[in-house]
Amino acid sequence: EEDAALLAGLDAGFEDDDEAGLDPVLAIVGRPNVGKSTLVNRILGRREAVVEDTPGVTRDRVMYPAEWNGRNFTLVDTGGWEFDAKGIHQRVAEQAELAVELADAVLFVVDATVGVTAMDESMMKMLRRTKKPIILVGNKADDQRTDSDVATLWGLGLGEPWAVSAQHGRGVADLLDRIMEVLPEFSEVETTDRRGGPRRVALIGRPNVGKSSLLNKLAGSNRVVVDPLAGTTRDPVDEFIELGDRTWRFVDTAGIRRRQHMAQGADFYASLRTQAALEKAEVAVVLLAVDEVLSEQDVRILQLAIESGRALVLAFNKWDLLDDERRRYLEREIEQDLAHVEWAPRVNISAKTGWHKDRLVPALDTALESWDKRIPTGRLNAFLGELVAAHPHPLRGGKQPRILFGTQASSRPPKFVLFTTGFLDPGYRRFITRRLRETFGFEGTPIEVSMRVRE
Ligand code: GDP
Ligand code: GDP
Repeated sequence: EEDAALLAGLDAGFEDDDEAGLDPVLAIVGRPNVGKSTLVNRILGRREAVVEDTPGVTRDRVMYPAEWNGRNFTLVDTGGWEFDAKGIHQRVAEQAELAVELADAVLFVVDATVGVTAMDESMMKMLRRTKKPIILVGNKADDQRTDSDVATLWGLGLGEPWAVSAQHGRGVADLLDRIMEVLPEFSEVETTDRRGGPRRVALIGRPNVGKSSLLNKLAGSNRVVVDPLAGTTRDPVDEFIELGDRTWRFVDTAGIRRRQHMAQGADFYASLRTQAALEKAEVAVVLLAVDEVLSEQDVRILQLAIESGRALVLAFNKWDLLDDERRRYLEREIEQDLAHVEWAPRVNISAKTGWHKDRLVPALDTALESWDKRIPTGRLNAFLGELVAAHPHPLRGGKQPRILFGTQASSRPPKFVLFTTGFLDPGYRRFITRRLRETFGFEGTPIEVSMRVRE
C-alpha cells in the first residue's frame, strides 16, 4: 500500500505535456563515492529537504524534477545504484550508459582529491562514444588548495573541468549556469533518431511468398518518381509508393525486383538482404503465404524482424488459394508458431487479385503509432502503483522485491526500465509486460522491460 502511494505520488512534480515538450534531462554519473548524491541534494536544494522528511524515500528515487533560474529540468541520479564487486567496472559503465541514453546532457563527476582511477577510465570510454554534451566535474574541491588537482583533469580530454564542492556548495552556481547553456529547451532524447520524410517499410519474406507481386499491386499507378536522375541507368534501391494519400518508402526493393538465382549461398544473401532492409526501415511487413506450411525460413525471417526492434505487420498472402482444410491447419499454425507475435496486426491479402490490399495501410499506421508511443512517466507510475498494489510480487525467501519507480527510457520501440529492490521473477516480468500491453496498447511493436536492481 505504501509502495502504491509512493509510486503514485512520486511523479507529482513531473510535467509530461506533449505540446510543450518534456523537460530536458541531466544525468549525473561517476563511480561510487565521488559525491553524486551530495551534488544531487545540493542542486535540488530546498525541494529535497522536504523529501528528506520521509526517511527512506530520498534514496529510492532516481529521477527528480529540478529547477535553476526559472528553468525546469529533470535530474537523473545514479548515486544509489549498487554494484556487486564482480565485474564492477563493467556494471558501472553499463549503468552510466543507461543514464546517458536517458539524458540530454551528462555530468561526469570525479573525485578531485583522488584523481582519475581505473573505474573512471572505464566510464570515460563509454562517455566518449556519446555525442551528448558532457560536463566534467572535479568534486570535493572544498577550497582553493584543490584547484590544482582539478586542473589536472584537463588531461581527460573532456574539456574544462569544473571545480565544485558539493558538500559546501562551492562552484555549484557556476556549474548550474553552465548546465543551462548546454541543456536544450525541451528534451531531445525522443527525437534524436527521427529522420523524417516518408515512413520506411521493409517488405520481407522468403522467396516466392509474393513480395514482388505485392509490390507491383501496391505500386500500380501509384509509383512516385522521386528526383529522377537524367541519363542514369542505376536501379533505385528504394521505391516511393503512394498509399492512403501518403507516400511510403519501400526500402531495398531493387533486391526484390531483381530476382536472384543463386544456387549457392542464396539463403545467406537472402538473410543478409533482409537484415539490411530491416536496418533501414521503421516498420517491417513480413509476408507469409497461406498455401504452404509455415517453414523454418519463414520463422527465421520473422525472428529477424522481431529482433530488429522495428514495428511489425504480418501479411498472409495468397488468400485466394486458401481452402477449408488448409484454413483449419493455418489457424493451428498461427496459434502454435505465431503465439509469440500475437501483438502484431495481421492482414489477409491476395497480391494476385489485390484483395484487401487497402488493409495494409491501417495496419502500418497502427504498428508505427505504437512504435512511436511514449507513456508519460506519471501515467506509467500510476499504472505500476495500481498493478503492484493489486498483484504484489510473490514473496521469495521471506523477501519481496519491490518496484520503486519506472520510466520509459526510449521509444521506437518502447523500452521501459524498472528500478527495483531485487530481481523480479521472469514470470512477474512477463505479467507486467502483458499488463503494459493491455493497458497502453502497443499493437504492432515489440516492447522491452528491463530492470535496474538496487540491492
Ligand atoms: P556517491 O556514491 O557518488 O553518490 O557519493 P556520495 O554523495 O554518497 O558521497 C560520498 C562521500 O563523499 C560522502 O561521505 C560525502 O559526504 C563525501 N562528499 C561528497 N561531496 C563532497 C565534497 O564536496 N567535499 C568533501 N570533502 N566530501 C564530499
Ligand atoms: P517473391 O519471390 O516473394 O517476390 O514472390 P513473387 O511475387 O515472385 O511470387 C511468387 C509466385 O507466387 C508467382 O508465381 C506469383 O504469381 C505467385 N503469387 C504471388 N502472390 C499471389 C497471390 O496472392 N495469389 C496467388 N494465387 N499467387 C500469387
